[in-house]
Amino acid sequence: MLKLMLKAGKDIFDLLYPVSCLVCGDRLVDQRHLCSFCLRHAFVPTNEDGRESSEGMVLPEWVTMQESLWEFDKGGFLQDVLHHVKYSGLADLGIALGKELGYKLLNNRFFPVTDEVVLLPVPLHPIRQRKRGYNQSELLAGGIAVVTGARVAPERAVRRIRNTRTQTGLNASSRKENLSGAFELVDAGPFRGRDVLVVDDVITTGATVFELAGLVRELCCSIGVATIARA
Ligand SMILES: [Zn+2]
Repeated sequence: MLKLMLKAGKDIFDLLYPVSCLVCGDRLVDQRHLCSFCLRHAFVPTNEDGRESSEGMVLPEWVTMQESLWEFDKGGFLQDVLHHVKYSGLADLGIALGKELGYKLLNNRFFPVTDEVVLLPVPLHPIRQRKRGYNQSELLAGGIAVVTGARVAPERAVRRIRNTRTQTGLNASSRKENLSGAFELVDAGPFRGRDVLVVDDVITTGATVFELAGLVRELCCSIGVATIARA
């Protein structure tokens, strides 16, 4: 009898809280897909100097700041979480990660992200966006905006004009070549004289974000780049 009651209780719980943490498997009462503990402790934070570089990435001298929340873990939980943000349409998770990044950016001493900053999420090619239904970088930028008050640039301002092949497996110079001319500036207005922060999920060599940042480089006051993970 007790067993039956426990089973019924568990079934009701499953029904009420169908979402579990992608890392530890705990049941969650909200839709974020990561519990508060894992959000704070499951991944390796990058160092705090706020102008970082990794092997394979050379930060252009005109980029004021590059900041990432965590070190990328190939084959690990973070890769899994980012894959879900990209392909599974978990909007709440994307916004939760963006907010976490936003808290870190508030205190960046090179490029404090305030309500004066314009956020530029890396656009997807329209065909890819139609297929996927959303852009994961926009979700992340949305989360940063909630915490910092920064504004997300209008979607129409910059567009991706080439549907580039995946960067995976390409070396630094092939990545740069693959991305060359991939974006087009449609409306300079939102960026003129502003501090612009380019937002993406992962930075590896930086080919994508630096190509995009190069479009607004002459217009804006200063440029930063922020991502969830750094490979
Ligand atoms: Zn967890």
